Amino acid sequence: MTTPRKILVTSALPYANGSIHLGHMVEHIQTDIWVRFQKMRGHECYYVCADDTHGTPVMLAAQKQGITPENMIAKVREEHLADFNGFYIGYDNYYSTHSTENKEFSREIYLKLKANGKIAVRTIEQLFDPEKNLFLPDRFVKGECPKCHAQDQYGDNCEVCGTTYSPTELINPYSAISGATPVLKESEHFFFKLGECADYLKKWTSGSSILANGQTQAHLQPEALNKMKEWLDDDHLNDWDISRDAPYFGFEIPDAPGKYFYVWLDAPIGYMAAFKNLCDRIGMDFNNWFSVGSNTEMYHFIGKDILYFHALFWPATLRFADYRAPTAVFAHGFLTVDGQKMSKSRGTFITARTYLDGKLNPEWMRYYLAAKLNSKIEDLDLNFNDFISRVNSDLIGKYVNIAARAAGFIGKRFSGSLCDVGNSALLTQLSAAADIIAEHYEQREYARALRDIMALADAVNEYVDANKPWELAKQDGMDTCLHHVCSELINAFHILSVYLAPVLPKIAVQTAEFLNIPALTWANSQHRLPENHVINTYQHLMHRVEQKHVDDLIEANKQNIQAAPTPAQAAPNAEYTPLADTASFDDFMKIDLRVAKVLSCEKVEGSTKLLKFLVDLGFEQRTIFSGIAAGYPEPEKLIGRMVVVVANFAPRKMAKFGMSEGMITSASGNGQLFLLDVDSGALPGMRIG
Ligand SMILES: [Zn+2]
Repeated sequence: MTTPRKILVTSALPYANGSIHLGHMVEHIQTDIWVRFQKMRGHECYYVCADDTHGTPVMLAAQKQGITPENMIAKVREEHLADFNGFYIGYDNYYSTHSTENKEFSREIYLKLKANGKIAVRTIEQLFDPEKNLFLPDRFVKGECPKCHAQDQYGDNCEVCGTTYSPTELINPYSAISGATPVLKESEHFFFKLGECADYLKKWTSGSSILANGQTQAHLQPEALNKMKEWLDDDHLNDWDISRDAPYFGFEIPDAPGKYFYVWLDAPIGYMAAFKNLCDRIGMDFNNWFSVGSNTEMYHFIGKDILYFHALFWPATLRFADYRAPTAVFAHGFLTVDGQKMSKSRGTFITARTYLDGKLNPEWMRYYLAAKLNSKIEDLDLNFNDFISRVNSDLIGKYVNIAARAAGFIGKRFSGSLCDVGNSALLTQLSAAADIIAEHYEQREYARALRDIMALADAVNEYVDANKPWELAKQDGMDTCLHHVCSELINAFHILSVYLAPVLPKIAVQTAEFLNIPALTWANSQHRLPENHVINTYQHLMHRVEQKHVDDLIEANKQNIQAAPTPAQAAPNAEYTPLADTASFDDFMKIDLRVAKVLSCEKVEGSTKLLKFLVDLGFEQRTIFSGIAAGYPEPEKLIGRMVVVVANFAPRKMAKFGMSEGMITSASGNGQLFLLDVDSGALPGMRIG
């Protein structure tokens, strides 16, 4: 056994203005598996989370429903908790950021930052809705993109051309709440002087922690560190506006009436508040965990989209408020469904509730996602055909069947009693894998852990086929042999269940009941069930997934949106973009469009937008950068297809990435991008016109 560690783990806080969907579940399942693993290893591990409750969207949603924000967030929290419980997410505390603990911590941290000279007060101009009498957050202002002139773009960035800007740059802006034309109004805002924290953050982001057991843990994953360097190296670290004006649902800033903490200030502090609430409940010393120099560990599991907040703002906040920093931040990628972004209209924006109500087994999804998760920041795809075949072949075919095949004979022929399995080579092989599987879990390489476990299950099934207990049962004088084989299989099932327990917590409990033993711990993997140990009658552990389960699930999610359509979901057509000026044929022919074949396509290190193509134009090959990465998360899949290229643009230097020798055309709208296609038979180099 390794040195016992003290570990605090969090998942990102779900926002209290929306349902829990499978995207959330990826993260909470990833975290839960890790926590369950640590607990099984005998470490003192706590897992806390909370609803993120503050901000304008919650305030407006409550208004719309005619209830107070407090009532709304209480109701939503219950729904969220029921959804997470349904997927067996085992929080030690699931709290709310609208709590007295969080209010006290937020004020205290703010005052410490102020005392440490890290708060500035500045007057800024902001768009104000004169009908609703409130300052408009960026996402509540819409208008025409100043760059590409697409209509109805949000105040912070254009979903068509990808440009970021400030809401005051929008052409013909309007309030997304009332439709009124916003006016510019001055207001005093409070800023956290993040720019002054750059030296500390450069050190922290590239640094690591030494754990109580002597191992080293990098604060960030390599990909996350690279991303942070983009901001830190070019001194792109702007001071952070942490205040909002009334009306706002949140905590008022001390000595600043009418000013509230921005939701993103008090959200991560919510981790502390949730943990403090737990400490008070179970009589544990909070300061032991959060004071500078604490030898406890703290890990935040998050999505890649909120790295900026967790890898920069949060460590800086803690540092300059005299608290310990996180041990590490673990980011994961996004979930796609059948290779595409989750889509409400396709029914693939799947909520936890429809999954549970559709009587789909949550452990199917836990297993499937675990089988795809690793320690990298990669998107992962839920492919429903793969889901059905993997769950049925691995969980039913390879794992559960082992118990089903052996338990009947043990019950009927041997009164449930096991024999001594002696030095079973099969069981020795299974036990010997404990350390390497544990290391995979520890490193969040769940896909590898499950691959190893299923290879062991294969070995067990080969043993079944070689020894054929069903035939031994028919032969006279083979009882001892049958007893031995089946006892080995029950022991093998026990060890496999230990290895799978972090992923399949309900089956782990059922297995302990079936085997008539206390809850499974990791150490069980080294033990044999003793001679004459009596097991209970086997109850079926899991059913197969059928295609109908999946079809019904997608249908239910389609109906979900029909029940509550929003304008964006209801519109099947592209948004109208005004036509460009009239062009002559000669104008058109100035643009030399050619068919090209994609020879290679890859992501560009240091850019989230660009893909790097090598294309064949028939007469030559060219390197072209294209800003379509968001629409094509798996660029290698584009290799071999035809695209349409503007071939006579002058080569253009793309910042630090290199020269781009042309442009790849795509259709855009509704915030999405689509490459053009050519009918089969067209050859590279053919001209379009
Ligand atoms: Zn634009």
